[in-house]
Amino acid sequence: MTFKTDRNFALQLDREDSLSRFRESFYIPKHTDGTESIYLCGNSLGLQPRQTKAYLDQELDDWARLGVEGHFHAANPWMPYHEILTETTAQVVGAKPHEVVIMNTLTTNLHLMMVSFYQPKGKRTKIIIEADAFPSDRYAVASQVQFHGYDDKENIIEWSPRVGEHTPRIEDLETLLKEQGDSIALIMVGAVNYYTGQFFDLKKITSLGHAAGAMVGFDCAHGAGNVNLELHDSAADFAVWCTYKYMNSGPGSLGGCFVHERHANNTDLPRFTGWWGHNKDTRFKMRDDFEPMPGAEGWQLSNPPILSMVAIRASLDLFAQAGFDHLRERSIKLTGYLEYLLKELKDDRISIITPSTAKDRGCQLSLAVKNADKSLFEAITAKGVIADWREPDVIRVAPVPLYNNYEDCWRFVEVLKSEM
Ligand SMILES: *Cc1c(COP(=O)(O)O)cnc(C)c1O
Repeated sequence: MTFKTDRNFALQLDREDSLSRFRESFYIPKHTDGTESIYLCGNSLGLQPRQTKAYLDQELDDWARLGVEGHFHAANPWMPYHEILTETTAQVVGAKPHEVVIMNTLTTNLHLMMVSFYQPKGKRTKIIIEADAFPSDRYAVASQVQFHGYDDKENIIEWSPRVGEHTPRIEDLETLLKEQGDSIALIMVGAVNYYTGQFFDLKKITSLGHAAGAMVGFDCAHGAGNVNLELHDSAADFAVWCTYKYMNSGPGSLGGCFVHERHANNTDLPRFTGWWGHNKDTRFKMRDDFEPMPGAEGWQLSNPPILSMVAIRASLDLFAQAGFDHLRERSIKLTGYLEYLLKELKDDRISIITPSTAKDRGCQLSLAVKNADKSLFEAITAKGVIADWREPDVIRVAPVPLYNNYEDCWRFVEVLKSEM
């Protein structure tokens, strides 16, 4: 597709795209001058669907009306509430329904998964993570290594970009595994790196990891609701994600968890357990013996916070209406357009460190600013852009296909141009 740089072209693209209508289903934050902000921060916190409040009111009303009876008699009974989310969640992450569950929060789920899938033994004690991993992932991985009595400095191996490059190459992971494969217990990388926006080849990483005898898991915080993760086909052992980024479920909302179906009935795996993971037919018989539910649900601990799940449901209903494949198609075009406009600036003070091919990225572009301090970022913020700044020199912008439009991209680049 050939793009043009003028505003009318952006407006025309917005008019021609049938998914543009979903923007009206969201609250767009306002800038101080009353105009709509240029919100490009859905990779950090997704915007609020307008229908979320009504969904919440329903449960608050049922709670007021029914008290504890709401567990069974609310319009959407709370007891099995998480099951309402399963089908659409599975579609969004490319899994079978019994492979996914919404529970806890991301880092908690990561720990629970590592309890089951990081089993250091003998020589095989190490974990590979990507360089520039999200700090919480690094802390979680390090503490798991320490928990098993090993030194984290020696047992965490970074898969790094080459000198002068920003994103790691798959062939370097291959080399790493060739050299140290028999000492690797687990590969745990961000499916989409939060800093560079690089979308890794999950299937390839998994097959390399499995061939080396390691378990493989992905943190999909920046992938869920953004790219086609195809978790089942990737063959990964597990994956975790949050729902407050691309899945618009509100600050600190619940996370998701994927366990590949080959582990669905594997009772040999160690796991931390709680009553909500117990066979639901006998859960309330309060027996002493734990009998896990098959699939990802068997890793649940507690009865979940319904009010947070409600917000996930409000957002997932929009995903279901739009169709995830359609959204991804729009996303590729939207981000391609933003990339085009940035390149048309022809200014070497800004460079894009995110891969330039659609299959290797989601909607986010990470812009490295030459000789940066935070001043350019602060200047565009003052002009109504909501993006984010990552030390030392990166501005991350993410046009989200559910609510951002071509005009947002155009307005962003105009502001950037005027402030540079
Ligand atoms: C956002 C994000 C987190 C945040 O973890 P929480 O447990 O939800 O606070 C962790 N890891 C990655 C890769 C993230 O992008």
